[in-house]
Amino acid sequence: MSNLRVRFAPSPTGYLHIGGARTALFNYLLARREGGTFVLRIEDTDLERSSQESVDAILQAMEWLGLDYDEGPYYQTERFDLYQEKIDQLIAEGKAYRCYCTPEELEKKRQQAMLEKRKPKYDGTCRDRSDQPEGRPHVVRFRAPQEGETAFTDLIKGPISFANDELDDLIIRRTDGSPTYNFVVVIDDATMGINLVLRGDDHINNTPRQIQLYQALGYPVPQFAHVPMILGSDKTRLSKRHGATSVMAYRDQGYLPEALVNYLVRLGWSHGDQEIFSKDELVSLFSLDQVGRSASVFNPDKLLWLNAHYIKTGDPKRLAALMVEKLAEQNISVKAGPDPVAVVRSLQERARTIVELADGARFFYLEQVEYDEKDRAKLLTRAQRDLLERLRALFAGEPEFTAAPLKQAFGRLLEELELGFGKAAQPLRVAMTGSRGGPDLFELIEILGRDRVLARIDRALESLV
Ligand code: GLU
Repeated sequence: MSNLRVRFAPSPTGYLHIGGARTALFNYLLARREGGTFVLRIEDTDLERSSQESVDAILQAMEWLGLDYDEGPYYQTERFDLYQEKIDQLIAEGKAYRCYCTPEELEKKRQQAMLEKRKPKYDGTCRDRSDQPEGRPHVVRFRAPQEGETAFTDLIKGPISFANDELDDLIIRRTDGSPTYNFVVVIDDATMGINLVLRGDDHINNTPRQIQLYQALGYPVPQFAHVPMILGSDKTRLSKRHGATSVMAYRDQGYLPEALVNYLVRLGWSHGDQEIFSKDELVSLFSLDQVGRSASVFNPDKLLWLNAHYIKTGDPKRLAALMVEKLAEQNISVKAGPDPVAVVRSLQERARTIVELADGARFFYLEQVEYDEKDRAKLLTRAQRDLLERLRALFAGEPEFTAAPLKQAFGRLLEELELGFGKAAQPLRVAMTGSRGGPDLFELIEILGRDRVLARIDRALESLV
C-alpha cells in the first residue's frame, strides 16, 4: 500500500464526457498501480447548474468504464459548514476580508482599467478598511500575496510560475454566502488528504491561487499534474461538433468499455508503439513519465478499430447478451430463434460494434426475412425453382444438419446439376438472409437449423418472380 491519494472531482452539470473520463482513468490507473486510494468527489457547489440527473449519469458512466473508486462519492453540498468555518478562520486571522464594493463599482473600475490598458484586477479598496458595517451585502476576499511569485513543478508540464501581482484578491464567499470553487477545492483536497491533483490543463491558471490558499490555511501543498487538452480533427477543442462526446453515447453506439478505456489511455499516454492494452497491463505500465505535454487529437477511426479488435476477441457469451439487448431495442426477440452465442460466433470476426452485430443478426431472428428487392429480382426468379426444390430435398434428407456434411452434399448436387458454386449459392443465400451479404453460408445454415431453413426455402419458392 502506498499513501498516494488521488481524486476525480467532476461537476455534475452534464454527462461524463470524453475528457473527464480520461482524467478519471488516469487517476484510477495511478491509484491502482501504486496501491493508493482513488476518491470520487462530486463538485456540486453550483446549485443552479448541478443536477441529480447529472450525478447519476456520471456514476453510471464510471461504473460502465469499470473505474471503481475507493472512497466517496463525497458531495460538496454536504460540506458547507466546513467551508464556512474555514472562511471564518481566515477572516479571524486577517487572511481574508469582507469586501463591500458593489458589482456596479467593480464594473466601472474594470472599464477604467481596460481604457487605460491595465489588466483589470481588484484594486484592494476594502483590503484595509477599518469599519465593517453589519447587514450590508458583501463578499469575502482572500488577501493574496502581492509580491514574489507562486511556483510549482507540474508532473507533466514541468516548472510553472506566476507573478503574484498578476493574481488579485480572490472572492472566496459570494454575497449569497456560498463559497467559490477555488476555495472549496482546496479545503476538500486538503481535508481528504489528496497528495496528487491530476486534472485537465484548463485548471492550470487556478493552481497558483489554490497553492496560495493551501499556504494561508497551513495545509501541505499537493503535487499537481495537468493533462493536455483533447482536440477534434480540426485542432479545436473537442466538442459536440466533432461527434459524440458523452461516454454513454459510445455505449449506445455499440462500443465496449474496454475499447473506450484503451482508446482514452492512449490519448496523451504511450508505451512504445503498443496500441492494445488490457486493464491489468495498464495498471502495471501506466505512469506520468510517458504522458505527453501537447494536446492530443481524438480519432474516431482508431476507436472503431480498437472496438473491432475487442469484438473479434471478445467472449461470445458476453457479446451475445449485449447483442440481444440491442435487438430488443429494435423489438426483435431472440426467443424463437437460434442460439445467440452461435450467432455471435458467426459474426464477431467482421462486426465492429454491437450495433453492427445486432444488424448482422437480424435475419436470424426475423420470422420472415426482409428481401433486398434487387437481389431478389436477380436471384430468386422462376429459373431457380428447380434448384431450390432440389436444395429443399437435400436439406430435408441430410441426416446430420451441420456445416461440413451439408456443404459436401451441396457440392455433389452442384456436380450433378453442372452448376458453379456461386450460381447455386447466391439464390440460396438470398433465401436464407434476404440479401447477398452475411456470414459463411453453411455456417449460417447450420445455425438456423433444419426447420427454419426449410421454411425459408418454402417462402422463397412462393415468392419467385
Ligand atoms: N470540478 C472541476 C471540473 O469539473 C474539477 C476540479 C479539479 O479537478 O480540481 O472541472
